[in-house]
Amino acid sequence: MSERSPSGFEVMAAVVGRVDLGPGTVLVDEESVTLVLAEARSFDKSIRFRIDGIAAVRPAGESVVVVFRDASTVAMHGSPAVREALCGRILDACRKVPELTRALRAMGARRAGLRGDSRREVKAGDEVRFFAPLLAARKVSAAIHDPREILDAFDGPDLAAALDATLDHFAGSRAGDNAPLRRALEAELSEAAEPLHLALVELRLAAESAAADVDDLAAWRRWSARLRATFETADRVWVTLDAMLGTTPAGPLVVHRPKRGGRFGRGLAILFAAALIEALGTRTLAAQHRMLRVVGVPVDTLRVNGLDVVETRGNEVLIVANPDDEQLLRSRGWAATEVPFTGGALRAVGAAAPVVYRSYDDPARGIRAFVDSLTRANSRVRADTIGVSFEGRPMLAVKIGPPDDSPSRPNVFIMATYHAREWAATETSLRLIRHLALAPDARVDSLVRNRDIWVLPVANPDGYQFTFTTDRLWRKNRRPVGPNAAGATVFGVDLNRNHSYRWGFDNTGSSGSVTSDIYRGPTPASELETKAIERFHADHPPVASISYHTYGGLLLFPPGHVYGRLPPDLSIFRALGGTDERPAVPDRLPASSRTSYHAAPGWNLYTTNGEYTDFAYATHGTIAFTPELTSGVEAGAFYGFVFPDDEIRLEALFRDNLPFALDLIESARDPVHFRSQTTGFAVEPVVLESASPTVRLRAPLASTTVSTLSPLAMRVDTTVPGKYFRRLLSDTIGRVPRITVSTAAGKTDFTMLAVGGAEATDTAWRTSGMAPVRTPVVGENAWQGQAGFVRSPVVTVPAGVDTLSILYWTRFDGAGGAPAPHGEVRLSTNRGATWTRVGSVSGEAPVYYPERTVVTNVAGKDVQIEFSSPDGMRWWLDEISIVAHRTTPALVAGSELRPNANPVRGDAVLFNWPFAGASGEIRAYDFAGRLVWRTDVASSAITLQWDLRARSIPNGVYLVVAQSQGDRRTFKLFVTRSRFDR
Ligand SMILES: [Zn+2]
Repeated sequence: MSERSPSGFEVMAAVVGRVDLGPGTVLVDEESVTLVLAEARSFDKSIRFRIDGIAAVRPAGESVVVVFRDASTVAMHGSPAVREALCGRILDACRKVPELTRALRAMGARRAGLRGDSRREVKAGDEVRFFAPLLAARKVSAAIHDPREILDAFDGPDLAAALDATLDHFAGSRAGDNAPLRRALEAELSEAAEPLHLALVELRLAAESAAADVDDLAAWRRWSARLRATFETADRVWVTLDAMLGTTPAGPLVVHRPKRGGRFGRGLAILFAAALIEALGTRTLAAQHRMLRVVGVPVDTLRVNGLDVVETRGNEVLIVANPDDEQLLRSRGWAATEVPFTGGALRAVGAAAPVVYRSYDDPARGIRAFVDSLTRANSRVRADTIGVSFEGRPMLAVKIGPPDDSPSRPNVFIMATYHAREWAATETSLRLIRHLALAPDARVDSLVRNRDIWVLPVANPDGYQFTFTTDRLWRKNRRPVGPNAAGATVFGVDLNRNHSYRWGFDNTGSSGSVTSDIYRGPTPASELETKAIERFHADHPPVASISYHTYGGLLLFPPGHVYGRLPPDLSIFRALGGTDERPAVPDRLPASSRTSYHAAPGWNLYTTNGEYTDFAYATHGTIAFTPELTSGVEAGAFYGFVFPDDEIRLEALFRDNLPFALDLIESARDPVHFRSQTTGFAVEPVVLESASPTVRLRAPLASTTVSTLSPLAMRVDTTVPGKYFRRLLSDTIGRVPRITVSTAAGKTDFTMLAVGGAEATDTAWRTSGMAPVRTPVVGENAWQGQAGFVRSPVVTVPAGVDTLSILYWTRFDGAGGAPAPHGEVRLSTNRGATWTRVGSVSGEAPVYYPERTVVTNVAGKDVQIEFSSPDGMRWWLDEISIVAHRTTPALVAGSELRPNANPVRGDAVLFNWPFAGASGEIRAYDFAGRLVWRTDVASSAITLQWDLRARSIPNGVYLVVAQSQGDRRTFKLFVTRSRFDR
């Protein structure tokens, strides 16, 4: 290869088109061919051509001729040796094999960092095994120049066979001798790997056409693009497999009904194409979207076909369909009926102007006019344009509070109506702007002065305007994206599937088809609107954010792209979003089908990818929520996306959602120490998520040690990033009696009072209508049933331990977005005479994940726990653990004053004495400044107890002051003892 001289090729003449430029040197690198001329004439001395513009390279007489895609040519004259070398060098550059993806390249580095940790070496071994065939082929290809040999190195059938062998190995290594388990796992894994199989088929087809004429550079580039797509698909598939393998202790955690198309899906795609060809010439389709009910077709089949699924009700699925979708439904023989909007809600497009709702462009009362008038009338409001939409509309963001953007104030971002038709979302955000600007009370005034708050009332202005003029149920933006099968131009990318985090992760959470209403766009953040929002986040990273949508009555938080994952910062999301028992948002709309909004990770509704909250949380650590406003139902009448154009109802909707918005804004100052006045939840510093078969816990980012009877090996969960907390995971260890967690702030002791998981040894647990099934998290069985109960033995909570965590691994088949069917966790403190609901689950959870319900005020009591599904939800339960816990604050000389609980829910609170070795006194004052407790402290003191029962201390805020020799420490203490069982 000596002729591939780095100094270039001396040519006797270079001719561009018909212009002879004379002799010079030709430099060829990966990206370009550069002519450096011996003498400059009318041209620059150096002329550069891009490699990817080259269509062909061929010898012609005494020249090498390069033909560009625009048919222009460059001819280079030289000796036979130079011609041959030059020709080969340029062709090599044109036939460059794509680089490995970042994850593939990083694999080696990760592996190097894992030495000495046997468990992680096993995981690393899996990863190497999975990528090895691709890595090997890439390595071989780098050493050869013959194009046919390069194509052969990436032989599709060989790579597919290697993939199958790898998946078999994974299943075998996890299932051991258990044949049914092995088959289930194989099916599960090969289903997850299906995108890679499809990519390899495409690669083989591209390789065949590239091999047919190795001088056809266009065919080569098509193959090269396929190879790159194969690398990227391998990356994505590994993320899925890694999660499945990583959380699989002994059996398959992930055993659920068939999903994501699989081999069947390929058949569907062919049928889909055939149907669209059949539709050629039938362009006289309805111009608008309609809401349809499809009966008897599995929801995931509809979703992998790109249909915009809104809701499931039993075996009925509600979708919003465009004309292409309707054609698809007809061709598949899927019966669909239009869902009428009742309750007098639907207004035909073009009918009388709306009364309350505002279009974007209306010069008198549109969004732009409204924002203009607001900024003129109120000095706290400033309008900002964060970007421009495809059709050129300004994306108006309203900043409320100080006019400048200060790094000392935390950023809060609130947006609405990424989906054009969701008008009630925009109305809610406009009312929030007005409320914040008017600041009717001291709290709002303080929030507005001490935060940088931006509100973007319409994140998709083009689509939004289109819903006022043309199609009430339009969802996407309005960029032309390509022809449909009938050749007509179709419009729009779903902006809430276009974000750059986990973009295109799979075809269930978004679609690659331009006609789909969940079309993700051609590339990550390809759309102007999405780009503007991502840029805004980079410039002003929000601590907390809201993206208002309709409808469903939900408060969704990340992640949404994979079933069963929980964010490491769940304590913050939980404190803000609440639970069904202590909700953040009540639903007080007249005769709504809900009483409050259900807070859950996005996948509890259905999985999505390229979605906003996943992006904001993963990229900027933003505590990001998607409220799905309203249940969509009023007294049996269905309005769905078409919330009534009615001032009273819109104001009621806003009032229901206001406390949550204010809490979120408040939390931005210090999310870790936030306590919600609405839900009553404080962010818990140390949370045990699971005690068996693995220990999973969430702890602050600072150093944490964990021990059982002997120290536990823990590793950090990296599947979902967290900003404030991290998740620590142990290997499978089975049931342990005690776990102690130490952090800088103190020590938490967890004691297992009872553990049950349908095993033969779990005889103390009683069931009715729930039976052992062989799809467990661990061991032989889990409990499963559709009606009936699982009941724990009676356990006595140790005196002095105030709080119980009820931990359980669970799966369930609820209805995504609906409050029923549901499962309940109940508590009895009188040996089963009466039961109180303390927790619940609903929605979708097709894979096992760890749930948790907390109960307080049970010190010294006999308690019993019951799980029951009163309305027929299919429910799996395994490794139910009843855990008592207590936290002792760290005792450090000269440290801060700290209580063992804040808020205090029990009858007493402990303080550390911060002045070790010195005497002094400690006092507590109520809100009005009255002294309610005082005690002298001896120099030998370590902890001090304040008995709240002794003086019937009422709930409220107290200032606790410790004092010693002129040195003071103070602490603001919240007392929130419930009346329950006191
Ligand atoms: Zn939406």
